[in-house]
Amino acid sequence: MNHIIDLRSDTVTQPSPGMREAMARAAVGDDVYGEDPTVNALQERLADMLGFEAALFAPTGTQSNLIGVMTHCGRGDEYIVGQDAHTYKYEGGGAAVLGSIQPQPLSNQPDGTLLLEDIERAIKPDDAHFARTRLIALENTIGGRPLPVGYLRDVGALAKRRGLAMHLDGARLFNAAGGSVPAARELVAGFDTVSVCLSKGLGTPAGSVLCGSRAQIDVGRRWRKMLGGGMRQAGVLAAAGLYALDHNIERVADDHRNAARLADGLAQVPGLKVEPPQTNIVFVQFPADRLPALRAHLDARGIKVTLAPRTRFVCHLDVDEAMVDAAIAVFDEFFR
Ligand SMILES: *Cc1c(COP(=O)(O)O)cnc(C)c1O
Repeated sequence: MNHIIDLRSDTVTQPSPGMREAMARAAVGDDVYGEDPTVNALQERLADMLGFEAALFAPTGTQSNLIGVMTHCGRGDEYIVGQDAHTYKYEGGGAAVLGSIQPQPLSNQPDGTLLLEDIERAIKPDDAHFARTRLIALENTIGGRPLPVGYLRDVGALAKRRGLAMHLDGARLFNAAGGSVPAARELVAGFDTVSVCLSKGLGTPAGSVLCGSRAQIDVGRRWRKMLGGGMRQAGVLAAAGLYALDHNIERVADDHRNAARLADGLAQVPGLKVEPPQTNIVFVQFPADRLPALRAHLDARGIKVTLAPRTRFVCHLDVDEAMVDAAIAVFDEFFR
């Protein structure tokens, strides 16, 4: 086999010919002056789609999350967040380093949620000993698991009762929503700000969008400039985002089907323990002593995965059913 099957992440996709054409044709201007018509259209489009007043295009999800947190919290404030959340664990401590904002991490439950009683207990009293608790930050999907609407409503009610803001890292919001825009809208209804990645399941080369109130986004625009995210003719990238909103939302359901197919296939392979997927991400446990030989076997056959005792497989735009079947056969060949 000489065709690479890359199951490491949904960030590895190549922009499709249609997307590249949209990028080439994009009308552009200087977005720091607010003059890029394509960036403006993308921001308005996603804000409208998700039920927010305004939105802000950022180069990465890391930056758009950081901007989101910084619009809610200042120096000496804190945000409540899961130990496993991207905004705590995988963003280099940016909120603390660049925002002087203290994270208050809590254990994620096996389903990815934070317990309401843990959140409640972590909220600090108004006392000079403590950081000021300002924000709850959730992630959906988290580790491929969607957070249920009912749970999100409960956290939203708690936040309201305790005077806290809510930020969602919706890097994979449309996966959480199964590719349905109305479902996505419902999932974000209780949040003050939401960051959505265009470069994951939606398949663009770069870009994330932060949605919020007009006031929040105006504050966020200042932080974006300070963080170095004020891009100029960014409409070339925003055009890919608009194309993705038109063509790549509903089709994430294909990735979920492919993930289920991959899970079913790998579950038949002797010695593998497969965790049934809920969206586009499958976790598979491998016998640790076989990993070095397996790595060589996969390398030789063009299967790319980040091999670990618990390996994450991610389905995306550039993985079809035939590639899923081919990957299963390669694992089967090794273990049988
Ligand atoms: C990918 C990702 C982000 C943002 O990552 P960037 O690489 O900075 O765009 C944020 N949150 C989650 C859950 C992610 O998977």
